[in-house]
Formats: sequence, structure tokens, C-alpha cells
Amino acid sequence: MINQKKISFEVTIYDSFIELKNDDQKLLSVAVKARQRAYAPYSSFNVGASVLLENGEIIEGNNQENASYPSGLCAERVAVFYAGAKYPGVKIKAIAITAASLNHEVNEPAAPCGNCRQAISEYEFRQKEPIRILLMGETGSVIECNSLADLLPLGFNSSFLN
Ligand SMILES: [Zn+2]
Repeated sequence: MINQKKISFEVTIYDSFIELKNDDQKLLSVAVKARQRAYAPYSSFNVGASVLLENGEIIEGNNQENASYPSGLCAERVAVFYAGAKYPGVKIKAIAITAASLNHEVNEPAAPCGNCRQAISEYEFRQKEPIRILLMGETGSVIECNSLADLLPLGFNSSFLN
């Protein structure tokens, strides 16, 4: 027997930053400030990420590039790894991500790369609670995802190893 199943998910799209709730504006503002400190001399594509933890702390990160390209790291992973290092076991409630380019205006939300989706999914799977994701470019709309799992359908996690 062959079954076909449609996998879909819903997002909320805000026309602009100012339509977000105050707490989400605050979280995204931290990501914007982090973005402005990114070290991205090779791509000129600056990304900032902020991680809201269950204890109220906000951890931030930005992309850290390297002359040996694969040695660099995306903003999202810098932030979640730092959160995991500083507050091990504390649940992540939300992650805000924003991108801007020195070469052109990024006027739509930039989504995390596949590696970052996998890295964040590890935290979501462990904590057994969804992590909300807010995505924004430099200007324009903001996309809110209810869960990282939505962005990584049929994802791989530790349950396969047991
Ligand atoms: Zn990435």
C-alpha cells in the first residue's frame, strides 16, 4: 500500500516590525544590535540572532566568518550554543533572526540555513517544547514560526540512535 501525506505548516506574517508584541519587538531589537556587530568581511551578509530563555535571559549571537570559510559559524548557532554553554538545560522560548547585506537591501525575512535548523532542532527535541522563530530582513515583513520542527520536516534527532 502506498500513502501520500501532505506536510504543511502555518506561519504568521506581520507587515512590519511595529506590529509585533512588545516582547517580540524587544527580542528582535537585540538581534538587530547583534547583527550590527557581525564579523562578515567575506559575504558582507550580516546576521544577528537573539535567544529568549525560559529564565528571561536573552542571549545574542552574530555570524563569525573566517578566511577558511567552513571555519566560520552562523549567528543562530553562535547564539544557541552560547545559550547552551551559559545556561545548560534552560529551555529556549524563542529565537529572533535578522539579516542585512552591505551590498543590497534585504527587505524580506531570511530563514536559517539547514545546518542551523538541525542545530536548533536538537534543543527543541531535548526540551520537548516548541521554539518560536521570528525572521526579519533589514526592513519589511516579519515571519513568525510556531516551532523549529516546522522548518525541518522529517528531521533527524536522537530518537533514531536509540
Ligand atoms: Zn546557519
